[in-house]
Amino acid sequence: MKIAVCVKQVIDTEAVKKLDPASWRLDRSVACVLNPYDEYAVEEALRIKEAHEGEVVAVCMGPEKAEEAVRKALAMGVDSAVLVTDPALAGSDAQGTAYVLAEALRTFEWDLVLFGVRSTDGETGCVPAAVAEQLGVPLLSTLAKVEVQGSTLTVHRETEQGYVAYECPAPAVLSVIKGINEPRYPSMKGIMGAKKKPLDVKDASSLNLDVSRFGQSGAKTRVLSGRSPEPRKAGVKIEDDGTGAQHIADFLASQKLM
Ligand SMILES: Cc1cc2nc3c(=O)[nH]c(=O)nc-3n(C[C@H](O)[C@H](O)[C@H](O)COP(=O)(O)OP(=O)(O)OC[C@H]3O[C@@H](n4cnc5c(N)ncnc54)[C@H](O)[C@@H]3O)c2cc1C
Repeated sequence: MKIAVCVKQVIDTEAVKKLDPASWRLDRSVACVLNPYDEYAVEEALRIKEAHEGEVVAVCMGPEKAEEAVRKALAMGVDSAVLVTDPALAGSDAQGTAYVLAEALRTFEWDLVLFGVRSTDGETGCVPAAVAEQLGVPLLSTLAKVEVQGSTLTVHRETEQGYVAYECPAPAVLSVIKGINEPRYPSMKGIMGAKKKPLDVKDASSLNLDVSRFGQSGAKTRVLSGRSPEPRKAGVKIEDDGTGAQHIADFLASQKLM
Protein backbone atom coordinates (compact mmCIF):
# COMPACT_ATOMS: atom_id res chain seq x y z
CA MET A 1 0.00 0.00 0.00
CA LYS A 2 1.41 3.41 -0.99
CA ILE A 3 0.48 6.16 1.49
CA ALA A 4 0.94 9.91 1.16
CA VAL A 5 0.79 12.03 4.33
CA CYS A 6 0.46 15.81 4.21
CA VAL A 7 2.41 17.64 6.88
CA LYS A 8 2.54 21.36 7.65
CA GLN A 9 5.17 23.36 9.49
CA VAL A 10 3.57 25.62 12.11
CA ILE A 11 4.83 28.07 14.69
CA ASP A 12 5.92 26.39 17.93
CA THR A 13 3.16 26.59 20.55
CA GLU A 14 5.66 28.21 22.95
CA ALA A 15 6.83 30.84 20.40
CA VAL A 16 5.39 34.36 20.29
CA LYS A 17 2.92 34.63 17.40
CA LYS A 18 3.02 37.98 15.62
CA LEU A 19 1.11 39.14 12.55
CA ASP A 20 3.08 41.23 10.06
CA PRO A 21 1.02 44.48 9.88
CA ALA A 22 1.95 44.95 6.20
CA SER A 23 0.67 41.56 4.94
CA TRP A 24 -1.36 40.33 7.95
CA ARG A 25 0.61 37.12 7.58
CA LEU A 26 2.08 35.27 10.53
CA ASP A 27 5.75 36.08 11.22
CA ARG A 28 7.29 32.62 10.64
CA SER A 29 10.87 33.68 11.52
CA VAL A 30 10.35 32.26 15.03
CA ALA A 31 10.72 28.64 16.23
CA CYS A 32 8.58 26.28 14.16
CA VAL A 33 7.56 22.63 14.52
CA LEU A 34 5.79 19.84 12.66
CA ASN A 35 2.04 20.52 13.10
CA PRO A 36 1.18 18.45 16.23
CA TYR A 37 -2.00 17.09 14.58
CA ASP A 38 0.11 15.79 11.68
CA GLU A 39 2.22 13.63 14.01
CA TYR A 40 -0.89 11.43 14.45
CA ALA A 41 -1.32 11.26 10.67
CA VAL A 42 2.34 10.28 10.19
CA GLU A 43 2.09 7.65 12.94
CA GLU A 44 -1.10 6.17 11.41
CA ALA A 45 0.55 6.03 7.97
CA LEU A 46 3.56 4.20 9.43
CA ARG A 47 1.31 1.72 11.28
CA ILE A 48 -0.60 0.91 8.07
CA LYS A 49 2.70 0.48 6.20
CA GLU A 50 4.08 -1.82 8.94
CA ALA A 51 0.89 -3.93 8.86
CA HIS A 52 0.51 -4.04 5.06
CA GLU A 53 4.01 -3.26 3.67
CA GLY A 54 4.38 -0.50 1.10
CA GLU A 55 5.81 2.96 1.53
CA VAL A 56 4.98 6.37 2.99
CA VAL A 57 5.65 9.70 1.24
CA ALA A 58 5.32 13.02 3.11
CA VAL A 59 4.07 16.06 1.18
CA CYS A 60 4.52 19.60 2.47
CA MET A 61 3.95 23.10 1.11
CA GLY A 62 5.83 25.83 2.90
CA PRO A 63 8.84 28.11 3.12
CA GLU A 64 12.34 26.54 2.69
CA LYS A 65 12.63 26.17 6.47
CA ALA A 66 9.63 23.79 6.36
CA GLU A 67 12.26 21.19 5.45
CA GLU A 68 12.84 20.88 9.24
CA ALA A 69 9.27 19.61 9.71
CA VAL A 70 9.59 17.24 6.76
CA ARG A 71 12.86 15.86 8.20
CA LYS A 72 11.01 15.14 11.47
CA ALA A 73 8.47 13.04 9.55
CA LEU A 74 11.35 11.25 7.77
CA ALA A 75 13.03 10.66 11.16
CA MET A 76 9.79 9.09 12.46
CA GLY A 77 10.03 6.55 9.63
CA VAL A 78 8.52 8.08 6.48
CA ASP A 79 10.42 6.79 3.40
CA SER A 80 10.66 9.90 1.22
CA ALA A 81 9.19 13.37 0.87
CA VAL A 82 8.09 16.14 -1.48
CA LEU A 83 8.51 19.78 -0.38
CA VAL A 84 6.78 22.42 -2.51
CA THR A 85 8.46 25.71 -1.75
CA ASP A 86 8.38 28.98 -3.71
CA PRO A 87 8.16 32.59 -2.50
CA ALA A 88 5.12 32.97 -4.80
CA LEU A 89 3.16 30.53 -2.61
CA ALA A 90 3.21 32.90 0.38
CA GLY A 91 -0.23 34.18 1.37
CA SER A 92 -2.05 31.16 -0.08
CA ASP A 93 -5.39 30.57 1.57
CA ALA A 94 -6.80 27.13 2.31
CA GLN A 95 -8.11 26.69 -1.24
CA GLY A 96 -4.75 27.75 -2.68
CA THR A 97 -2.86 25.39 -0.37
CA ALA A 98 -5.19 22.53 -1.30
CA TYR A 99 -4.67 23.22 -5.02
CA VAL A 100 -0.87 23.10 -4.63
CA LEU A 101 -0.98 19.93 -2.50
CA ALA A 102 -3.34 18.24 -4.99
CA GLU A 103 -0.98 19.07 -7.87
CA ALA A 104 1.97 17.68 -5.88
CA LEU A 105 -0.03 14.50 -5.12
CA ARG A 106 -0.73 14.04 -8.85
CA THR A 107 3.04 13.54 -9.43
CA PHE A 108 3.14 10.05 -7.87
CA GLU A 109 0.82 7.11 -7.26
CA TRP A 110 -0.84 6.53 -3.87
CA ASP A 111 -3.69 4.51 -2.40
CA LEU A 112 -4.31 6.74 0.63
CA VAL A 113 -3.63 10.37 1.56
CA LEU A 114 -3.58 11.06 5.30
CA PHE A 115 -4.03 14.43 6.98
CA GLY A 116 -4.22 15.84 10.48
CA VAL A 117 -7.64 17.30 11.32
CA ARG A 118 -6.30 20.84 11.35
CA SER A 119 -3.23 23.01 11.73
CA THR A 120 -2.50 24.90 14.94
CA ASP A 121 -2.11 28.26 13.14
CA GLY A 122 -4.68 28.69 10.31
CA GLU A 123 -6.95 26.03 11.94
CA THR A 124 -9.49 26.17 9.06
CA GLY A 125 -9.66 22.37 8.90
CA CYS A 126 -10.63 22.82 5.24
CA VAL A 127 -7.56 21.54 3.40
CA PRO A 128 -8.27 17.75 3.51
CA ALA A 129 -11.78 18.20 2.07
CA ALA A 130 -10.56 20.66 -0.59
CA VAL A 131 -7.78 18.25 -1.63
CA ALA A 132 -10.22 15.31 -1.83
CA GLU A 133 -12.55 17.44 -3.97
CA GLN A 134 -9.77 18.44 -6.35
CA LEU A 135 -8.53 14.85 -6.68
CA GLY A 136 -12.07 13.49 -7.09
CA VAL A 137 -11.71 10.85 -4.33
CA PRO A 138 -13.80 10.21 -1.18
CA LEU A 139 -12.97 12.03 2.08
CA LEU A 140 -13.23 10.23 5.41
CA SER A 141 -12.63 12.89 8.05
CA THR A 142 -12.04 13.10 11.82
CA LEU A 143 -11.23 9.40 12.09
CA ALA A 144 -10.63 7.66 15.41
CA LYS A 145 -9.77 4.30 13.84
CA VAL A 146 -8.52 3.07 10.44
CA GLU A 147 -8.42 -0.57 9.33
CA VAL A 148 -7.21 -1.75 5.92
CA GLN A 149 -8.20 -5.07 4.28
CA GLY A 150 -6.77 -5.30 0.77
CA SER A 151 -8.05 -2.10 -0.88
CA THR A 152 -11.02 -1.73 1.47
CA LEU A 153 -10.94 0.72 4.35
CA THR A 154 -13.06 0.32 7.49
CA VAL A 155 -12.97 3.46 9.61
CA HIS A 156 -14.57 4.88 12.75
CA ARG A 157 -15.55 8.52 12.46
CA GLU A 158 -15.78 10.37 15.76
CA THR A 159 -19.18 11.92 16.55
CA GLU A 160 -20.62 13.60 19.65
CA GLN A 161 -22.57 10.44 20.42
CA GLY A 162 -19.60 8.06 19.89
CA TYR A 163 -18.57 7.03 16.42
CA VAL A 164 -19.96 5.91 13.08
CA ALA A 165 -18.32 3.09 11.11
CA TYR A 166 -17.78 3.48 7.35
CA GLU A 167 -16.44 1.16 4.70
CA CYS A 168 -14.83 2.68 1.60
CA PRO A 169 -12.61 1.48 -1.25
CA ALA A 170 -9.17 3.09 -1.72
CA PRO A 171 -8.05 5.50 -3.11
CA ALA A 172 -9.32 7.94 -0.50
CA VAL A 173 -8.37 10.98 1.59
CA LEU A 174 -8.45 10.52 5.38
CA SER A 175 -8.02 12.96 8.24
CA VAL A 176 -7.26 11.52 11.66
CA ILE A 177 -7.96 12.95 15.10
CA LYS A 178 -5.60 13.64 17.98
CA GLY A 179 -5.45 10.48 20.12
CA ILE A 180 -6.06 7.95 17.31
CA ASN A 181 -2.62 6.61 18.21
CA GLU A 182 0.53 7.43 20.22
CA PRO A 183 3.00 9.06 17.81
CA ARG A 184 6.48 7.54 18.10
CA TYR A 185 9.50 9.62 18.97
CA PRO A 186 12.20 9.58 16.31
CA SER A 187 15.15 7.42 17.39
CA MET A 188 18.73 8.73 17.04
CA LYS A 189 19.11 6.22 14.19
CA GLY A 190 15.93 7.64 12.63
CA ILE A 191 17.18 11.23 12.94
CA MET A 192 20.54 10.37 11.39
CA GLY A 193 18.89 8.30 8.64
CA ALA A 194 16.45 11.10 7.80
CA LYS A 195 19.28 13.24 6.43
CA LYS A 196 19.93 10.66 3.67
CA LYS A 197 16.31 9.94 2.74
CA PRO A 198 15.06 11.29 -0.64
CA LEU A 199 13.54 14.80 -0.46
CA ASP A 200 12.19 16.08 -3.78
CA VAL A 201 11.99 19.90 -3.67
CA LYS A 202 9.56 21.40 -6.19
CA ASP A 203 8.51 24.97 -7.03
CA ALA A 204 5.53 26.50 -8.84
CA SER A 205 7.03 26.12 -12.31
CA SER A 206 8.18 22.50 -11.84
CA LEU A 207 4.56 21.66 -10.91
CA ASN A 208 3.28 23.86 -13.74
CA LEU A 209 0.93 25.62 -11.32
CA ASP A 210 -1.75 28.10 -12.45
CA VAL A 211 -0.69 31.43 -10.88
CA SER A 212 -4.33 32.52 -10.49
CA ARG A 213 -4.96 29.68 -8.01
CA PHE A 214 -2.38 30.21 -5.25
CA GLY A 215 -0.46 32.84 -3.32
CA GLN A 216 -1.81 36.22 -2.17
CA SER A 217 -3.05 37.08 -5.69
CA GLY A 218 -4.88 33.74 -6.05
CA ALA A 219 -6.43 33.80 -2.57
CA LYS A 220 -10.23 33.80 -2.36
CA THR A 221 -10.02 35.14 1.19
CA ARG A 222 -8.43 38.46 2.15
CA VAL A 223 -7.36 39.51 5.64
CA LEU A 224 -8.71 43.06 6.17
CA SER A 225 -7.28 43.71 9.59
CA GLY A 226 -5.82 41.90 12.58
CA ARG A 227 -5.06 42.59 16.20
CA SER A 228 -3.46 40.77 19.10
CA PRO A 229 -5.87 39.33 21.66
CA GLU A 230 -6.36 41.35 24.88
CA PRO A 231 -3.77 40.29 27.44
CA ARG A 232 -5.50 38.04 29.98
CA LYS A 233 -6.42 39.99 33.16
CA ALA A 234 -4.78 38.73 36.35
CA GLY A 235 -7.20 36.66 38.44
CA VAL A 236 -8.37 37.64 41.93
CA LYS A 237 -6.45 35.87 44.71
CA ILE A 238 -8.47 35.03 47.87
CA GLU A 239 -6.74 34.15 51.14
CA ASP A 240 -9.28 31.76 52.72
CA ASP A 241 -9.72 33.04 56.27
CA GLY A 242 -13.02 31.18 56.48
CA THR A 243 -14.76 33.57 54.12
CA GLY A 244 -13.41 31.89 50.96
CA ALA A 245 -16.68 30.12 50.13
CA GLN A 246 -18.64 33.35 50.48
CA HIS A 247 -16.19 35.17 48.18
CA ILE A 248 -16.59 32.45 45.54
CA ALA A 249 -20.40 32.48 45.87
CA ASP A 250 -20.44 36.29 45.51
CA PHE A 251 -18.16 36.06 42.45
CA LEU A 252 -20.33 33.39 40.77
CA ALA A 253 -23.46 35.44 41.54
CA SER A 254 -21.78 38.58 40.10
CA GLN A 255 -21.08 36.59 36.90
CA LYS A 256 -24.73 35.40 36.91
CA LEU A 257 -23.42 31.84 37.12
CA MET A 258 -25.70 31.01 39.99
C1 LIG B 1 -4.15 33.00 11.73
C2 LIG B 1 -4.50 32.49 10.35
C3 LIG B 1 -5.82 32.51 9.93
C4 LIG B 1 -6.13 32.02 8.64
N1 LIG B 1 -7.43 32.05 8.25
C5 LIG B 1 -7.76 31.55 7.03
C6 LIG B 1 -9.11 31.53 6.59
O1 LIG B 1 -10.02 31.95 7.31
N2 LIG B 1 -9.38 31.02 5.36
C7 LIG B 1 -8.41 30.54 4.55
O2 LIG B 1 -8.71 30.08 3.45
N3 LIG B 1 -7.11 30.54 4.94
C8 LIG B 1 -6.78 31.04 6.15
N4 LIG B 1 -5.49 31.06 6.55
C9 LIG B 1 -4.47 30.56 5.63
C10 LIG B 1 -4.35 29.08 5.80
O3 LIG B 1 -3.93 28.82 7.08
C11 LIG B 1 -3.31 28.53 4.89
O4 LIG B 1 -3.78 28.57 3.64
C12 LIG B 1 -2.89 27.10 5.21
O5 LIG B 1 -1.82 26.74 4.42
C13 LIG B 1 -3.93 26.04 5.06
O6 LIG B 1 -4.91 26.13 5.93
P1 LIG B 1 -4.92 25.64 7.45
O7 LIG B 1 -3.66 25.99 8.13
O8 LIG B 1 -6.15 26.18 8.03
O9 LIG B 1 -4.98 24.06 7.30
P2 LIG B 1 -6.04 23.03 7.91
O10 LIG B 1 -7.12 22.77 6.94
O11 LIG B 1 -6.45 23.41 9.31
O12 LIG B 1 -5.06 21.74 7.98
C14 LIG B 1 -5.59 20.45 7.95
C15 LIG B 1 -4.49 19.52 7.51
O13 LIG B 1 -4.11 19.84 6.16
C16 LIG B 1 -2.71 19.62 5.99
N5 LIG B 1 -2.07 20.88 5.59
C17 LIG B 1 -2.49 22.16 5.81
N6 LIG B 1 -1.60 23.06 5.29
C18 LIG B 1 -0.60 22.31 4.75
C19 LIG B 1 0.62 22.62 4.08
N7 LIG B 1 0.97 23.89 3.86
N8 LIG B 1 1.43 21.60 3.65
C20 LIG B 1 1.05 20.30 3.87
N9 LIG B 1 -0.08 19.92 4.51
C21 LIG B 1 -0.90 20.91 4.93
C22 LIG B 1 -2.18 19.08 7.32
O14 LIG B 1 -2.27 17.68 7.33
C23 LIG B 1 -3.20 19.64 8.32
O15 LIG B 1 -3.30 18.85 9.49
C24 LIG B 1 -5.12 31.54 7.80
C25 LIG B 1 -3.80 31.50 8.24
C26 LIG B 1 -3.49 31.98 9.50
C27 LIG B 1 -2.08 31.89 9.96
